[in-house]
Amino acid sequence: MPLAACLIWRTYGNDPLPTPRQALNEPLRRFPLWFLRVECSRCGAVQVVNEVHAPRRDLPIRTILARMRHEVCGGRVAKAELLSGVEAAVRRIVLWSP
Ligand SMILES: [Zn+2]
Repeated sequence: MPLAACLIWRTYGNDPLPTPRQALNEPLRRFPLWFLRVECSRCGAVQVVNEVHAPRRDLPIRTILARMRHEVCGGRVAKAELLSGVEAAVRRIVLWSP
């Protein structure tokens, strides 16, 4: 089912971004091609997943983050951001931060 254009935030453009609270309640697929960057609460390792490769993109980002565990140490998400790019992110939404 195609999503209405107004419910999609691109990695480019000047349209207003949602607040962290709004973004957390949106399915990840409404941020096509964005990178989800998370930091582990135990070891501090950083993982970056592109929306395209994320499992269950249909779930709210809040749910995805709550389920995430670091494969190596089993830690939870300490910090999470949505970034428009890895090298140079021009758009950024800080979702969770300690
Ligand atoms: Zn870890």
